Amino acid sequence: MSSNGGTVNFEHGEFCYEFAKWAQDITENSVYLWGFGFDGTACFRKGARLGPISLRKVSYGIESYSPYLDSDLEDYSNVFDLGDVPFSDTGNCEKDFLKSSEAIENTLMSQKLNESKNRFLLIGGEHSVSYAQIKSYLKQFPDMVLLHLDAHADLRDGYEGHHYSHASIMRRCLDHFEDGHHLIQYGIRSGTKEEYEWMKEHGTLKTIRSSFLESVESIPSDRPIYLTLDLDYFDPGIFPGTGTPEPGGEDFNSFISLMKILQNKKLVGADVVELSPELDSSGNSSVFASKVVRELLLVLAGEVEGDVNND
Ligand code: MN
Ligand code: MN
Repeated sequence: MSSNGGTVNFEHGEFCYEFAKWAQDITENSVYLWGFGFDGTACFRKGARLGPISLRKVSYGIESYSPYLDSDLEDYSNVFDLGDVPFSDTGNCEKDFLKSSEAIENTLMSQKLNESKNRFLLIGGEHSVSYAQIKSYLKQFPDMVLLHLDAHADLRDGYEGHHYSHASIMRRCLDHFEDGHHLIQYGIRSGTKEEYEWMKEHGTLKTIRSSFLESVESIPSDRPIYLTLDLDYFDPGIFPGTGTPEPGGEDFNSFISLMKILQNKKLVGADVVELSPELDSSGNSSVFASKVVRELLLVLAGEVEGDVNND
């Protein structure tokens, strides 16, 4: 794989990587961005399949330096774009989805994430694309904390006939939870009565920003954390480019507060999903999401570097 020289050369990922090539190309101590533009189960408005393309396109227009984290992608030579997960759209939604998910899982399970210190950031696509990556991380990190930022609880056990629906992604992840795993949810403002009862019973939902941030702050700095970010977490007033908008959402500053905390934690992986670029004709949502991705790449790259230096 050609290096992108430390910057996020999103253009590199033009549907050109097959599984074998990814596996050969993945080395050590690196951060890998990859995309999965799938929106087959989206129930309200589709369009998230164009998320990865749009993110890469607008990434040229944003700075590589983050004033929030005082960190610059130019200073890292270990951030790569793997391109997009191959997807054959045969019309059999579940079969196509599972085939691509298998490629993700095979790639991640073919290596020891903790020892290789490789970090993966997946961009979607609808939220169901996160399934294979989160599942692989749960298998490899038995004490992982899963942070779920979203407007929706995503705890339905299947939705509209889809076992792997984007409305069921957290339920599907819970299928792979072991005793040492822990789930924290924040931003949720829509769900069924049953979903809310479940969250109450299991104490997973934080409803106040300060208590959410405190709960992340209190995670030991050597405990692995994975972030799954559904962009409808943000208020549709500032982020309209998403399929199932819900009023009353969070702002960019809330995200930055979290990034500042995660900068001193062990973030081992993440995904950013549900960008539907065509739903926002101004293009602002794509730029917004691209900045979110930049911050996450910087946190992941910084974590790898800190971890390597500590050895
Ligand atoms: Mn959502
Ligand atoms: Mn979601």
